[in-house]
Amino acid sequence: MLDIKNYVRVQSLQEAYDLCQNRRNVIIGGMLWLKMQNRSVDTAIDLCDLGLNQIEDKGDEIHIGAMVTLRQLELDPLLNEYTHHALKESVKHIVGVQFRNLATIGGSLFGRYGFSDVLTMFLALDAYVELYHGGIVSIREFVEMRPSLDILVRIIVKKTPMQVVYLSQRNTQTDFPVLTCAISKMNQDYYCVIGARPLKATLLLDEKHLLDSSLSDESILAFADDIAQRVTLGSNLRGSADYRRHLTKVLIKRALWQLREEHNHGN
Ligand SMILES: Cc1cc2nc3c(=O)[nH]c(=O)nc-3n(C[C@H](O)[C@H](O)[C@H](O)COP(=O)(O)OP(=O)(O)OC[C@H]3O[C@@H](n4cnc5c(N)ncnc54)[C@H](O)[C@@H]3O)c2cc1C
Repeated sequence: MLDIKNYVRVQSLQEAYDLCQNRRNVIIGGMLWLKMQNRSVDTAIDLCDLGLNQIEDKGDEIHIGAMVTLRQLELDPLLNEYTHHALKESVKHIVGVQFRNLATIGGSLFGRYGFSDVLTMFLALDAYVELYHGGIVSIREFVEMRPSLDILVRIIVKKTPMQVVYLSQRNTQTDFPVLTCAISKMNQDYYCVIGARPLKATLLLDEKHLLDSSLSDESILAFADDIAQRVTLGSNLRGSADYRRHLTKVLIKRALWQLREEHNHGN
């Protein structure tokens, strides 16, 4: 059971940062992950008064505050137009609407969970995270960073023209994913992200330039085979490493077929 002694609605990020340097205090998002833990907390630090529940169009960038919920991401017209509804696809299987009304993007990304649909999606968007102490770092860097006593303030998505497709495989509709796959194309480069491996999501590039000339059935198959060989996969109760390798090929092929289809229809 989670036991909380004090609750503070901080009035500044500095106040939150000072409080969270004590390991017995904890930043809270929607508390959906935290509440499942067996732990005693001195002070729960709530960021809800800091205006971080907004998705803002900043011209060349979209800023997503850490307290934005998964449901806001799912419904946001700007983000969904930019991602051709891939963002909606990435969160829509997470438990249910009431859950997504509470779960925050800050809580979803800061833990860098091995099962995360959200991390897979934002890696494919080549996003940045703003940490209060650590400053702005690319999400690629953030995934590899060791956990720290910092605060995730916002996520920054640069509006680079892109195509992106998100797919996941689940044993049942709202379970944790067995595998996640997001493929984006930005500035002629393909970004392939495989998550729920069951390790945290990883980005793989087209190192052999298999997709350079065209998205033909042959090049798509070759790329899917290449990634399936290179990606590190493991086993857990949801699936074996072999099954995940098979799924990797299937999801990559489907994602690239969809990308090609959308391209041909001018989306
Ligand atoms: C039953 C269940 C099923 C789930 N299924 C999926 C799924 O299929 N796919 C998926 O992607 N996710 C899934 N999740 C994860 C979920 O979507 C959220 O990511 C998770 O609940 C954390 O979000 P939260 O806002 O509730 O964070 P909290 O539980 O409040 O916090 C989680 C952690 O993040 C820290 N934290 C929160 N906000 C910040 C911040 N701004 N800065 C620094 N640290 C912060 C907290 O201190 C805590 O350590 C599932 C979770 C549960 C409980």
